[in-house]
Formats: sequence, C-alpha cells, structure tokens
Amino acid sequence: MADKKGVYYSRIVSQIIFLTVFFGLIWTGFTQVWLVIFGVGVIGSLFFGRFYCGWVCPINTLSRPIKWVYKKSGKNRLKTPSILRKNVWRWVALIAFISGIVYVKTTGLRLPVFLIVVLIGAGFFLVFGEETFHKYLCPYGAILSVASKFARYGLIVDKSECIGCGKCQEVCPNNTIITLDSDVRYIEDRECLNCFRCEESCPVDVIKYGKT
Ligand code: SF4
Ligand code: SF4
Repeated sequence: MADKKGVYYSRIVSQIIFLTVFFGLIWTGFTQVWLVIFGVGVIGSLFFGRFYCGWVCPINTLSRPIKWVYKKSGKNRLKTPSILRKNVWRWVALIAFISGIVYVKTTGLRLPVFLIVVLIGAGFFLVFGEETFHKYLCPYGAILSVASKFARYGLIVDKSECIGCGKCQEVCPNNTIITLDSDVRYIEDRECLNCFRCEESCPVDVIKYGKT
C-alpha cells in the first residue's frame, strides 16, 4: 500500500513539474525544447513503455481535473464515435502536427503549434471519454505506440492470482485491458500509458510493473 501511494504521489509531482515546464517553454518561446523531452520519452518507451504519457504529457495532466469534475458531477462523457475508432486518425494528426511545425519554422509565423495540440486534446477530454484522444487522435501516441512495442518492461497482471473483478478495466483511461478466459485480465503493452491507475485499483495487488 505504501508503494502504491508513493507511485501515486510521484506521478502527480512529475505531472505538475512537466506541466509547469511546458507552459514555461511556451511562455519563453523555447517550445522546441519540448521536442527534446518528447524524444527522450520515445527512446525511453523503447525499453520501459510509455512513461511519457502517464508521467510527462501535459495533455494527459490536463485530463485529470476534467475527469475529477465529471466524477463529482456524476455525469458521463460521450463514447468514442465509430468514425473516430480508427488508428489512421492519429497518424493524420501526426502528419498535421509535423506539417504545422515545419510551416511555422519556414514562414516564421508565430503560431503556437504545441499549445494548439494541448488545447485540442483538452477539448476532446471535455466532451469524450479519455480513450478517444489517447488511442485514436494523439499525434505523440502514434509514435509511442510503435516504440513501446519493443519495450521489455511494463504493467503485467499475474494471471494465476487475478480474481477477475474488473476494477482495473473500469479505471483504465485507454481501454488497454482485455478479458481472457476465466475473466482473467491482460494488459496490451503498446497502448498502455503507464499511468498505474490499474495497479492502484487492484484489490488483490496482482498488477505489477516489471519484465514482460
Ligand atoms: S493498463 Fe493500467 S497503466 Fe496501462 S493505461 Fe490502463 S490503467 Fe493505465
Ligand atoms: S483489478 Fe486485479 S484482480 Fe481485478 S480483474 Fe484487474 S487484475 Fe484481476
């Protein structure tokens, strides 16, 4: 339990620090530094999974208060429309994002591309469930989902101990947990955001981060 709390608070601190850094870079005009941070996140995800998503990404951090407001209000967000349930959209978003950066660099236009992506992400979180942006529309997620395929570490369910209660599935923001025979759960590595919410919610502590 102490470990779970430690991870929970460490993640909050990490998210606040990186959110502050992000807006600091926007404010000072050094947004290209964020590309370096993202690059480190991609390299890290080749080995350790998508810590960038769960611990660094400002879009994911902004989803926290939105989720809290919805939880308090007892209202539900919309499900992902079927037209958006296609992997191709995040690649389209990535191309649009890169084109935006190149256009700004070549024309000298003062367009805050990074901030626009964050605001679009937050806009989707305001209306749709978290999965919509994370899984289908995030340009960063497109790259990270490929890189994290190679990761040798991630969140794993101990199948022999899982009691099939489904609490992990209820909290997973990216619908990454699937049900196997006998109600045992399994985490799909490449879409896992390393947010540890499943680990926090498991009543029998059978979800651990380790070698997959
Ligand atoms: S499987 Fe767990 S760590 Fe991965 S995204 Fe879902 S809740 Fe987060
Ligand atoms: S919360 Fe834990 S016990 Fe329940 S289904 Fe998920 S992994 Fe299994």
